[in-house]
Amino acid sequence: MPTEIISSAAPVSPAHPAALNWVASGPKRLWIDGQWQEATSGRQIESINPETETTLTSIADANASDIDRAVTAARRAFESPAWSSITPHQRTFFLLKIADIVEAHGEELATIETLDNGMPLWYSTASVRAVVEQFRYYAGWPTKIFGSTNPSAPNILNYTLREPVGVCGQIVAWNVPLVMSAMKIATALACGNTVVLKPAELASLSTLRLAELIEQTDLPPGVVNIVTGLGSGAGSAIAAHPGIDKIAFTGSTAVGKQIMRAAADNMKKVTLELGGKSPNIIFPDADIDQALDFAVRSFCGNSGQVCSASTRVLVHQDMHDEIAARVATMAASYKVGSPFAADTKLGPLVSAIQRDRVMGYVEAGKRGGATLNFGGERVGSQGYFVQPTVFSNVDNSMTIGREEIFGPVVSIIPFRDEEDAIRKANDTTYGLAGAVWTRDISRAHRVVRAMKAGRVWINSYGDADPVMAFGGYKQSGLGREYGQESIEAYTQVKSVWARL
Ligand code: NAP
Ligand code: MG
Repeated sequence: MPTEIISSAAPVSPAHPAALNWVASGPKRLWIDGQWQEATSGRQIESINPETETTLTSIADANASDIDRAVTAARRAFESPAWSSITPHQRTFFLLKIADIVEAHGEELATIETLDNGMPLWYSTASVRAVVEQFRYYAGWPTKIFGSTNPSAPNILNYTLREPVGVCGQIVAWNVPLVMSAMKIATALACGNTVVLKPAELASLSTLRLAELIEQTDLPPGVVNIVTGLGSGAGSAIAAHPGIDKIAFTGSTAVGKQIMRAAADNMKKVTLELGGKSPNIIFPDADIDQALDFAVRSFCGNSGQVCSASTRVLVHQDMHDEIAARVATMAASYKVGSPFAADTKLGPLVSAIQRDRVMGYVEAGKRGGATLNFGGERVGSQGYFVQPTVFSNVDNSMTIGREEIFGPVVSIIPFRDEEDAIRKANDTTYGLAGAVWTRDISRAHRVVRAMKAGRVWINSYGDADPVMAFGGYKQSGLGREYGQESIEAYTQVKSVWARL
């Protein structure tokens, strides 16, 4: 039976007035060459509030000719001395300034994100803090991007220059929009590139507000361009544009493959951050309370709309039923409700389509023979709310054990021993993240070495820091973001040979 959204005594935080004013200030436009411009087509796309299903405002629907204008502006900016000839210190200065302005508008940005995406306000507030940290982290890089001098013959000087790639096309998903847009912009700028970025149609508002804030830093026009629109229009035009040197994409594996094909024509450098079905292995000797706390927080966080979420919890067969019951009890205590209520753990999913997709997986779980321990219902009649949902006795042959759900649904999978756990953990086409919980230090390191995933935790799940590289093994992606690895992805090496 569906649980109703509990109208609890918990205070509801008021939406930040500046955010409401900004959202209500009229249809949003494209930011190209330092100017706010209409889309050529004149078409607008509605932005929906997933809590109330009402229209917030509208965003411009860019087409190929708008993308072309943005690429021309980004190319001009890339070659203009106002950007290409400034010192690394000056790039640091711009990034620090952006961080300060974002921090000063933190509450406003968090409200915009919550209105547009539906994530709880505490979650969007934390994500804006992460955005500030990201800009400060990348502000440290411009003066630390080194080439090398290489030993050769005595009459030769061989060295490398690490140079920017050029115009970067960036396309992001809707689940943590501001974090992804900010990270992609910050990395590109730290390395001296210029940007044409398309946020997801379902949640573009925070990125548009970020552009207005960036505008206040006097960054030269055209260094950052924000083009809203549909994946099939604006997105595919970015992927195919011959004037773009690098493409950085965050989204589904299916679209990632299309991006890679489109990028082949002009040999764009490609980085892809794609989907996941990440295993979280809990051995019997672990701190079980803590392991379950992290597991539940992870699959419920942002209503499960997180690429690296702990969606497959692998537990020893002897503890399986007990752990399934405990996870169900914990999930039942997680309140689903208004994202502005202080005690809300799960806000709405981003859209009706996403909710229906998740409900389809719940049906597949029931049909496939898994045990439904908790949840599986929509919540309330307005807004895209779904209960946290716990399935156990799942195996990898079931749809819910294989496919990315991108909703608050966890699959608990029994294993026999360490070898069986590793085999089941790796039995997936994805390889984004994973974790192992154990007090046995040798086992911990043995298991992380065996795991085919790009980011793995020991006795933790989901912790993140911009110093830590992120990206996928197998079909979870190509290349890495964050950390030193991201600098490599946004620069290219020129090898210089001088005869002395
Ligand atoms: P998606 O459908 O692949 O869309 C991602 C972005 O690509 C959106 O901006 C979308 O535009 C655009 N797009 C769609 N079709 C396109 C095309 N043919 N050419 C160019 N661009 C196109 O993914 P989603 O459903 O929004 O996001 C959820 C997925 O993202 C999940 O698989 C999740 O795991 C993954 N994700 C991965 C990471 C990571 O870092 N690894 C992080 C977050 C999310 P519109 O939506 O505006 O049409
Ligand atoms: Mg929205």
